[in-house]
Amino acid sequence: MEIEVKSKKDDEIIFIIRDANVPFVNAIRRAAMMSVPKLAIEDVNIIKNDSAMFDEVLAHRLGLTPLVSDLKSIEGLVVGDDCDCDDYCSSCSVSFTLKEKGPGVVYSKDLVSSDPNIKPVYDTIPLVKLKENQEIELEAVAKLGFGKDHAKWMPTTVCAYKQYPKITFNKDVDPDYDCASKCPRGILKSDKRSKIIKVLDIENCSMCKSCVRACVNDYIQVGYEENNFIFKIETDGSMPPKEVLLKACDVLSAKTDDIIEFSKGGNQ
Ligand code: SF4
Repeated sequence: MEIEVKSKKDDEIIFIIRDANVPFVNAIRRAAMMSVPKLAIEDVNIIKNDSAMFDEVLAHRLGLTPLVSDLKSIEGLVVGDDCDCDDYCSSCSVSFTLKEKGPGVVYSKDLVSSDPNIKPVYDTIPLVKLKENQEIELEAVAKLGFGKDHAKWMPTTVCAYKQYPKITFNKDVDPDYDCASKCPRGILKSDKRSKIIKVLDIENCSMCKSCVRACVNDYIQVGYEENNFIFKIETDGSMPPKEVLLKACDVLSAKTDDIIEFSKGGNQ
């Protein structure tokens, strides 16, 4: 198997996996979305809420506010179910407080954390609007969780793959230049002097087949390479995409180890 990184940003990575298969690539996708631990606000104690927003809606907004959850920041924190405490403790949770008075908009940056490393990823997420003399006061507890339990614990906003596109031309017929202009992504370009259609950026092809449908003489065919994939991971900023991928692979590796152990008879 070969892996080639095509682009990398703080919150997005695109890479190509060659010589793999759908079950394997899909297992990575599912593990990245569902089984990578991330922090999110789980319990909210609303002491005062004079705003027009219902308590439940406010609590939901807080839960969906992305919190810094990179591996270094959450080092030492354990998932709630694995903690010995009865409710919440400093080993399995981080507390926040919020106390503001209107008029004005209360933003994510107004949440005060008990851990300087754990805070909202973005400062400018509007939480609630307060009118003159309206007040809000609350306590919130964030804990580690998994995307399989609630979307707020899902570190990825995009986690998807597609098979590597394959565009071929029928050399036995004349080029149908019109089909190039039907590509909505501008991937095909007619070159009448060379009597060919050029493919400009095949990795951007969505395999929509608009070009194939527009072609009158079957000049162009669009398919995909069975064992090569373009994989994209985009996060909500709580974790770098590379860490999501690493953690997903760790999860898969641990499950595989369990099966190997079981197969050896260790649990029988
Ligand atoms: S399949 Fe769609 S995206 Fe790909 S080249 Fe044809 S028209 Fe463009």
